[in-house]
Amino acid sequence: MEKLYSPKDIEEKWQKLWLSPEYYDVFKFKNDGKPTFVIDTPPPFTSGELHMGHVYWCILNDTIARYKRMKGFDVLLPQGWDCQGLPTELKVQYKWKIPKENRELFRSKCIEWTNIMISKMKEGMIKIGYRPDWEQFEYRTMDKEYWKMVQYTLILMYEMGLIYKKEFPVHWCSRCGTALAQAETGYIQKKGKLYYIKFKLDQESIIIGTTRPELLNACVAIAINPNDERYKNILGKEAEVPIFGQKVRIIQDEAVDPKFGTGIVMICTYGDEQDIKWQQKYNLPIIKAVDEDGRIINAKEYTGLKIEEAREKIVEDLRKLGFLVKEEEILHNVLAHTERSDCMTPIEFLVKDQWFVKSKDFKEIMKEEAEKIQWIPKYMKQRLIDWIDNIEWDWVISRQRVFGTPIPFWYCKDCGFIIPPKKEDLPVDTSKDKPPISSCPNCNSKNISGTSDVCDCWIDSSITPLIITKFLKNNEVFYKTYPVDIRQQGHDIIRTWLYYTMLRCKILTGKGPFKSVVINGHILGPDGSRMSKSKGNVIMPEEGISKYGADALRQALLLLTLGSDFPFRWEPVKYGKSFLQKLWSSVRFASQFINNKIELDNKKLNDIDKWIISRLRNTISIVSEAMENYQFHIAVDTLQQFYWHDFCDQYIEAVKPRLYNSNNKEDLDTAIAVMYKIIWIFIRMFAPICPHITEEIYHRIFKNFEGFTSIHSTTFPTLEELPEVDGNEGEKVIKIIAKIRTKKVDKKIPLSAPVKYVIIRDKNELLKTYKKNEWLIKEVLHIEKIEFLEGEPSIELE
Ligand SMILES: [Zn+2]
Ligand SMILES: [Zn+2]
Repeated sequence: MEKLYSPKDIEEKWQKLWLSPEYYDVFKFKNDGKPTFVIDTPPPFTSGELHMGHVYWCILNDTIARYKRMKGFDVLLPQGWDCQGLPTELKVQYKWKIPKENRELFRSKCIEWTNIMISKMKEGMIKIGYRPDWEQFEYRTMDKEYWKMVQYTLILMYEMGLIYKKEFPVHWCSRCGTALAQAETGYIQKKGKLYYIKFKLDQESIIIGTTRPELLNACVAIAINPNDERYKNILGKEAEVPIFGQKVRIIQDEAVDPKFGTGIVMICTYGDEQDIKWQQKYNLPIIKAVDEDGRIINAKEYTGLKIEEAREKIVEDLRKLGFLVKEEEILHNVLAHTERSDCMTPIEFLVKDQWFVKSKDFKEIMKEEAEKIQWIPKYMKQRLIDWIDNIEWDWVISRQRVFGTPIPFWYCKDCGFIIPPKKEDLPVDTSKDKPPISSCPNCNSKNISGTSDVCDCWIDSSITPLIITKFLKNNEVFYKTYPVDIRQQGHDIIRTWLYYTMLRCKILTGKGPFKSVVINGHILGPDGSRMSKSKGNVIMPEEGISKYGADALRQALLLLTLGSDFPFRWEPVKYGKSFLQKLWSSVRFASQFINNKIELDNKKLNDIDKWIISRLRNTISIVSEAMENYQFHIAVDTLQQFYWHDFCDQYIEAVKPRLYNSNNKEDLDTAIAVMYKIIWIFIRMFAPICPHITEEIYHRIFKNFEGFTSIHSTTFPTLEELPEVDGNEGEKVIKIIAKIRTKKVDKKIPLSAPVKYVIIRDKNELLKTYKKNEWLIKEVLHIEKIEFLEGEPSIELE
């Protein structure tokens, strides 16, 4: 073995070999009758960039899967790709300059783009040692097979009466010309003006502060806070909107902020998300105010003007007519197209025909389901429950986009009746495919229309447990593997991926989809804030892997407590690398002596042997419990401490005299047998965490004697593999050796230099133990003569 451990060559070699047919059996879901263990892993959005967050969950799932395989499970570790998102459409539209109007061409270009992105990300996953069952369980939400399942499940939900269509406001980016998911929007601070506008009320007037005077035409009510004493007398009255003249009622609502402007607000359809809530809550009329290009509509002579122009023009007219009381410069938060895009255009709310899933009805059932799941960590359950409590409207599942799974329904334009396709015709694209019937079953109208709407991406990804367990495709596999054992994911998508999956799978199968949920936190930038390119605090996994190796990065990330957010730190990665070198060097040392497998049975163990065996037994107990409970930080720390400090620092030092000087063949064999056993057990416990170095060591030292294809097809160590021994005597010897060593250091005597004479004073009982191990103590510390005296504990060197 080489002196220096070089992760780069060794890791890449194993990553390739693990993907070869020779090793496939190790990682394959075999469906061979063994108990199964199924992990529902996150399908990442195919952005092309595999960041530290992705790598973190890949490491978690890979470690869990390798561990469970060693525990005798038939593990199903799938990996999917969440392909169909707006960012891809924008890239294809602007970078590749493909127009959206030709839907077929545009879609095929999106697929081409996505395939490139997937191969980039997959390469990154492989570099961290991630080894899912790509061969059988790689799925892509843009594939026709996947579409088919998404559409099939929507039809099942339609048959249960859970799908309907109605007009509803959507988040709209007028620059990108598309609807956005709420998750793609965010607040940015912007300079703006607050206009104080007079509204007529009886013979008097009231004053309302607004940043959006261009929406006056769409004002449908006015609201005050019920606790605002100033306006008690105007409640229930009607005010007249300036310029446009409509009369609107004054209502009260707790959500009105009495400190903003004058404490009176106008409700328009729609200025912001609060307006949507109020419109729903009070069943207010809807006046469409803005069109898809961001132009004002239904607004007299202002119709057709861009939002900004209309605002200027209306303010000017308000001033002329004496309705404008004052204007104020303000900094305010504006909802904009912020996520996965640098667009930053303020969001408008457009009323569109939308498809819905009746999700509000399932709030109580979902809360019951949350109680049935084992949560790791426990406190994450409350996050889901709080979210369920907050749900105010049904799930809008349609998006006005191109690259997505087509909504699989036609509808009657006259009566609104929904017409699903025949299941055998799936997948369908109702924007071009013919409906299965020519007239409406409800009203006989021939006016049947398809839709160009596509599904919200969460509709795609909320059936991953059904996809991987072969729901409706292979009953035998499905009944064996559903519900899946764990869903692993980040805490940022509890409200979306977790909630939607639970909802859809419960509705579709009658059973919740997971037994346990394992939730990870975020890896933040070293400065403790979220990694972002604009802040310059992004650390790419590639940097860590090329400097220190995947196994080093794996140790460092597994040292984080599951569920919490952590700033990225290099120290544990560096420590991880040093640990690998320590492991390598120790194995290199041991390998000089291991020429055969020497069984430990019937060997005469000395006190130090018993001590290291008892330490290892203790380590197996702690690590096994930690691995079972997903407390990887405890497992990694315990393994590192045991191996470095107990085995390398103490045991190997103490065993050297026996290896080099022993005239006693039997004792030499015992020492070698103990070393073999310790390293063999250790690398198996360490294999799920650092799969590369342990595989290399296995092949160099152990494969000839043990015969498994890979270390990852061996079993996880148990206490039964080691004799029950009393390590107490040995511990005393280890302690006295450590004390004398410290004394040598204090006296500036090199550790390898001889010492003529040592006096050890201690209790009689301890002296007995020391005397029994006198030869060893002398050899390890290069002492010529030791005198043992009863008395207060002390050590003298000469
Ligand atoms: Zn945009
Ligand atoms: Zn009809």
